[in-house]
Amino acid sequence: MTSSSTITAVDAQSTDGPGGAAARSGVVVRDLRKEYPTPGDPLVVLRDVSLSLPPGAPLAIVGPSGSGKSTLLNVLGTLDAPTGGSYTLDGVDPLALKPADLAAFRRDHIGFVFQDHLLLPQLTAAENVLVARLARGRASRDDSDRARELLRDVGLDGRSSHLPAELSGGERQRVAIARAMMNRPALMLADEPTGNLDPKTAAQVADLLFDLAAKSNSVLVAVTHSAELAARFPRRARMHDGSLVED
Ligand code: ADP
Ligand code: MG
Repeated sequence: MTSSSTITAVDAQSTDGPGGAAARSGVVVRDLRKEYPTPGDPLVVLRDVSLSLPPGAPLAIVGPSGSGKSTLLNVLGTLDAPTGGSYTLDGVDPLALKPADLAAFRRDHIGFVFQDHLLLPQLTAAENVLVARLARGRASRDDSDRARELLRDVGLDGRSSHLPAELSGGERQRVAIARAMMNRPALMLADEPTGNLDPKTAAQVADLLFDLAAKSNSVLVAVTHSAELAARFPRRARMHDGSLVED
């Protein structure tokens, strides 16, 4: 049953969410606006978007190009600041954090998967999964064990010492998912994660995103053009000219 597996996921993870596992309240967005100034009227890219996503409630966002999907993901990912409205992730308001604290918050609590895998070409698959830890110094034994477990979860245990150039597109995207899951993020953001993959590989990659987000009890928000991928999500919303409407 879903509820018992959710409880297992919470029990099994460490309390490394912003407020610990018990405090995970997920994403709460109220009246989010994003405007860009122009010589005339401002360009409104997000129009009072409101959204509430408890952990374990994956959401797919569809909508035409230019409707504001990536802008919304960038705001949720704290890569971009909104012009108005409020946003909390597990009760933390990232907009209130100082820049250094915001960078640490993003690193520790948010995972990103983009259309392009953005792996570092000179690092092996295992090193790419560990990259945030390596940037802080040496990876611990526990970190290495977790990276190995994640590569096994995404079906790449035999590929950990391969460079990105020695992997297929689907394998590279699976490494990117493992990297995004390294910190058991409270929030997992995926912008067209299967956009560059053939349909069969896309379905496998989508399943992995789902499984790993569920295992870490992460909120998963995925932007997609793929009707097949969107259909796998229990919640779907459509972005149209900056407004988000749930199906
Ligand atoms: P989507 O991901 O749905 O294709 P985006 O969120 O990338 O759409 O873009 C939404 C709108 O915001 C587009 O019209 C785009 O031109 C505009 N936009 C994005 N970034 C900027 C920016 N830095 N300055 C001005 N306009 C921008
Ligand atoms: Mg986009």
